[in-house]
Amino acid sequence: MVVNENSASSRRAFLRKAFASFALGTTGAFALPVFPRTHTSGEAESMDSKREQDEKMPDRYKDKFRITKLVTFKVKPRWLFLKIYTDQGIVGLGEPVVEGRADTVAEAVREIEPHLVGKDPRRVIHHWQAIYRHTFYRGGPILTSALSGVEQALWDIKGKALGVPVYELLGGPTRHRVRVYAHARSIEDIKKAKSSGYTAFKTGVLNATQSGVVAPPGFIEKAVERFAMLREATGDDADIGIDFHGAISPQNAALLIKDLEPYKPFFIEEPVNCQNVDVMARLARKTHIPIATGERIFTKWGFREILEKGAASILQPDLCHAGGIFETRLIAGMAEAYYAAIAPHNPLGPISLACGIQLAASIPNFLCQEQVSLGEGYLKRPFEVVDGHIPIPEGPGLGIELDEEALAGKLGHDWNNPEVYLDSDGSVVDW
Ligand SMILES: [Mg+2]
Repeated sequence: MVVNENSASSRRAFLRKAFASFALGTTGAFALPVFPRTHTSGEAESMDSKREQDEKMPDRYKDKFRITKLVTFKVKPRWLFLKIYTDQGIVGLGEPVVEGRADTVAEAVREIEPHLVGKDPRRVIHHWQAIYRHTFYRGGPILTSALSGVEQALWDIKGKALGVPVYELLGGPTRHRVRVYAHARSIEDIKKAKSSGYTAFKTGVLNATQSGVVAPPGFIEKAVERFAMLREATGDDADIGIDFHGAISPQNAALLIKDLEPYKPFFIEEPVNCQNVDVMARLARKTHIPIATGERIFTKWGFREILEKGAASILQPDLCHAGGIFETRLIAGMAEAYYAAIAPHNPLGPISLACGIQLAASIPNFLCQEQVSLGEGYLKRPFEVVDGHIPIPEGPGLGIELDEEALAGKLGHDWNNPEVYLDSDGSVVDW
């Protein structure tokens, strides 16, 4: 535990002052310095228990290997990267961010830093447990995203220290390449992505934000027509999913899913928001098209209810939000027991993609990985898509190296979430 010298000395000063006041009879009996004394005693116990833990560690942990600092930096278009430095010269990379709240997550990481500095980075799971549980107030997107980025960087350090990819530490490769999908809004997008090697795509619902509670028949028809057109462009041997983005009412979602069925979407993503899992489960029971969800669900505890209620058969945890690489590995294990598949959400940067690839390379129930950047202009060796797949990397840790020179021109951003309103009456809608 790192002791903050300033707070320790002010606590000592407080103790002296409080004791003096008590002796002089200027402080009421209730003000006897019980709180500071208890606090100091707790700290001493904690230090003792830490020393005891260190002494009981296997010999390999007696070698000096310490975290020295955590540094975050915003990267365009809307990302936040993390570097965890160590006294062994190994630097771990992570991507702790909530879209539109990069500064808030950076601050959460800053608050985690004193907990980690001086500790051995190799105890990844132990640190995850401590950071997650010692906050007392658990979970939520900001804290789990900060924790996710930290956890990713610790795995990167551990892999680099041992000279192996993270997937080796997760049990070794379950596949030799990882299928990825591209976003597409038009036939041109699909043609372009196909020529770059993609065989899987995802699109959105035409004009979804303006659909209202019960959309006019024209809305459903046009949305289905647009999907049918894109489905034809992908061809029968390719896949295309459709993302409702949690922005469609349950009433409209039911109508839309029914009319989309003949076009066999790869999956229907977030047919409704995930705050009421029963509503999503009811929609899932009405269709044979796989329902996917997960980008706004955090940790194994969040996914438990989705699986138990049969609300989705494709889980899309985001490795930068859900709790990191190993937490998603645990979610994949839970999913396996329900015959559900994993298709990690990732509208973020190349560190996030690298984490998803390490996970995909080591789980049995992987479906497809989302990406919006293969790392061109960010990585020394960007990922490459061949025949719809990225070969699993061979480098240690996350298997990537930042291109610092290229990154220098991309530092900082002020990206905000869009504000969207219903055209007809100006009320707030989801986007
Ligand atoms: Mg989505």
